[in-house]
Amino acid sequence: MEPVDRSTIWPYREGEPGQFFYQRYAHPTGVEAEQALGELDGGRALLFSSGMGAVTSVILGLLEPGARIALADGAYYGVERLFRTELTRWGVDVVEFDQTGPPPEGVQLVWLETPSNPLLSFPDLAASVEAAHAQEARVVVDATAATPVLLRPLEHGADIVVHSATKYLGGHSDVLLGVAVCRSEDDHRRLLEFRGHTGVVAAPDPAWLLLRGLQTLTVRVERQSASALEVARRLQAHPAVERVRYPGLGDERAARYMRSGFGGLLSFDVAGGAEAARSVETSTHLIKNATSLGGVHSVLETRRRWEGDRVPEQLVRLSVGLEPVDELWADLEQALPGG
Ligand code: PLP
Repeated sequence: MEPVDRSTIWPYREGEPGQFFYQRYAHPTGVEAEQALGELDGGRALLFSSGMGAVTSVILGLLEPGARIALADGAYYGVERLFRTELTRWGVDVVEFDQTGPPPEGVQLVWLETPSNPLLSFPDLAASVEAAHAQEARVVVDATAATPVLLRPLEHGADIVVHSATKYLGGHSDVLLGVAVCRSEDDHRRLLEFRGHTGVVAAPDPAWLLLRGLQTLTVRVERQSASALEVARRLQAHPAVERVRYPGLGDERAARYMRSGFGGLLSFDVAGGAEAARSVETSTHLIKNATSLGGVHSVLETRRRWEGDRVPEQLVRLSVGLEPVDELWADLEQALPGG
């Protein structure tokens, strides 16, 4: 890793701008991070100021006004909200579909999420890519919860991968960033241009923190996946838990596409409804009651407060961190009804 370079300007050489001349267009720390991210996902990466910055740029930068988008139902609620509020104002038409089957006809872009947050549905990637490409639509995969350690959607025919780098890629809950990784040179060039025009850029310090986080990405994700699988199995056997959602509990599509684990994100329904779920989220000690996911510390929360009836009222989302799994389980067990 090079030291962070916070310059906003670099001198011209012999009267001409070089690769770096003004921070909004490119800076050395950002380019270093993009090279690392591009290698991880097998494409050309661009950093953005947040995950939502990356999502917005992909849609507004690559589509024409009035475009029709097939959006996986259960995709991250912030994406759904962006599409339904801001983008529909610009004439973008959104049609939701069940991502476990093929996408609808007549769209210019198919938006998938692997696995979805927080319902953990997993798309049929091959079927979606085939159906999308048959109608010349791009496939974008939000692989935030999988990370390139477990899934590289470009290898399965997707055109663009996006991540909220705020989650596992940064990994320490101290940096807000997004990334889009493109298969095609044209998409990459267009998004670079769009980012420069709009200024949805990542600053050097977050980019440097991301580079530091990436150094431990694989060990973190493997450990989080192993712990999450163990916690999911124990939750499934617990009498106060009605349902556990985790791709490692027999999801055949996820097993076909994910390697060496199923990630650190899971959700479960607490028997006894909303009140029982609220009691769980306020009764853990080691596991903090906080939002987000992908950090080294475990966090959990009921999602109804944010997502309304998109999720069951008794659903608790858990992001498993790096704590010893027996300590995590002891904390959950005492917080669950009967504990
Ligand atoms: N995509 C997914 C799956 C997410 O979980 C999130 C944030 O929670 C985002 C995108 C948006 O990322 P950010 O919060 O970095 O803007």
